[in-house]
Amino acid sequence: MSREKRVPMRELSPEERVKSFAEVALGYNEEEAMQEASRCLQCKDKPCVSGCPVGIDIPAFVQAIREGDFEGAIAIIRESNYLPGITGRVCPQEKQCEARCRLGKRFEPLAIGRLERFAADWERAKGVRKPEVAKPSGKSAAVVGSGPAGLTVAAYLAERGHRVTIFEALHEPGGVLAYGIPEFRLPRAVLSAELEYVRSLGVEIETNVLIGATYDIDELFELGYHAVFLGTGAGLPRFLGIPGENLNGIYSGNEFLFRVNLMKAYLFPEYDTPVKVGDKAVVIGAGNVAMDAARCARRLGAEVTVLYRRSEAEMPARREEVMHAREEGIKFRFLTQPVAFLGDKRFSLRAVRCLHCELGEPDESGRCRPVPVQGSEFEVEASTAIIAIGQSPNPIIAMKHPELKTTRWGTIVVDEQGRTSKQGVFAGGDITTGQATVIAAMGAGKRAAQAMHEYLMGL
Ligand code: FAD
Ligand code: SF4
Repeated sequence: MSREKRVPMRELSPEERVKSFAEVALGYNEEEAMQEASRCLQCKDKPCVSGCPVGIDIPAFVQAIREGDFEGAIAIIRESNYLPGITGRVCPQEKQCEARCRLGKRFEPLAIGRLERFAADWERAKGVRKPEVAKPSGKSAAVVGSGPAGLTVAAYLAERGHRVTIFEALHEPGGVLAYGIPEFRLPRAVLSAELEYVRSLGVEIETNVLIGATYDIDELFELGYHAVFLGTGAGLPRFLGIPGENLNGIYSGNEFLFRVNLMKAYLFPEYDTPVKVGDKAVVIGAGNVAMDAARCARRLGAEVTVLYRRSEAEMPARREEVMHAREEGIKFRFLTQPVAFLGDKRFSLRAVRCLHCELGEPDESGRCRPVPVQGSEFEVEASTAIIAIGQSPNPIIAMKHPELKTTRWGTIVVDEQGRTSKQGVFAGGDITTGQATVIAAMGAGKRAAQAMHEYLMGL
């Protein structure tokens, strides 16, 4: 056995991928997983664990896989992570656990994410075990939002015997996992199985309830809930604020992905929400939302170009997504800043006017600041533009409750345990940090849930 290289994971070929929304990465089989697990050095000081926001005992579950004890492996993962089939697929492992893996000093780091995914898929194929739940505590909690933060809080509290209801504004639970991340990265069957696990703990999920309109937080307390968790995410798209942004053919990343993923526009007319892409699409931005939008537009038949004002080194998207996007024929124009959208006589987009940029000094994010080069204008032809330059928290709850302290970016202020400025109200995930990652939202949810449990038990 060589420790140098990872066991490769099977994938659909790029030609097959662009014709369908089927999952691209096919995962390890038992033999491949055991082989990869045997590369682990079983480091006593567990550096990989310190890179995991929910603290999974990585060497222990990897050792279980190496010994062929897959049931033991998933049991170890589930002690710290309620959504392993999801995190094994979408976590930016290369910046977290795998970045700290000691093997990575000389060789390729252990494929921790792929092994986590393997254990979760093995469990799903066998049938998820019924979890144990504590005796009813007589206390109840309302969780607002069913993304990874809300689901983690709900599962943690339900396991400890509290009655939990999740209130979700959309008609389907899952947050970004349902409406943002496409089927070819996260099959909905995986999300459904994880939701089923959370429900099996006794959690109720009420959809089509917008907190701040249907009920406010005080009304949730009046309904008998003893504590409230806000996990409402950051779903409000940002725009560029440049001329022509209201032309036909321009979408926010969220609207585009919402149509494609949640409303199944790629199956139009079988499903009744359309999405128009045309022959040439540009995607503005270089994060995960941009990569997902670009790859969806490609599957809908467009030639796609990503415009990013910094260089490739500064791209925030997961490395694997960028590699897959390239393989699927998506082009990238770096150091390119859009300055205007240009329309035709029918107010439909025909091109994007851009400036070349140079990289300047690092800004507060630590990344080099793009500096537009005056007089370097050029046009990129496009019938569709998808703007994916970031998202902010939806302000509805904070507007209804001025007693909730917020930052100037609209995020809710919390202490380390997720307590807000309002008694009995906790928050975590993107609503407190701005858009981050699935596992960071779960880590924040876990810390808040621990504090909520103490709060509920102390009442
Ligand atoms: P969300 O997942 O946003 O869930 C919030 C939920 O609250 C939503 O369902 C919303 O409808 C609901 N809600 C909002 N307001 C109300 C209200 N007033 N009443 C009731 N319900 C409400 N992260 C990764 O780690 N890896 C990736 O590959 C990745 N890809 C991404 C791709 C896309 C397209 C997007 C948009 C994000 C991606 N992210 C990724 C980021 C990640 O998904 C988020 O950081 C994470 O989902 C945040 O979780 P959350 O629970 O805080 O919020
Ligand atoms: Fe295994 Fe890497 Fe963790 Fe060491 S750091 S225990 S090699 S996964």
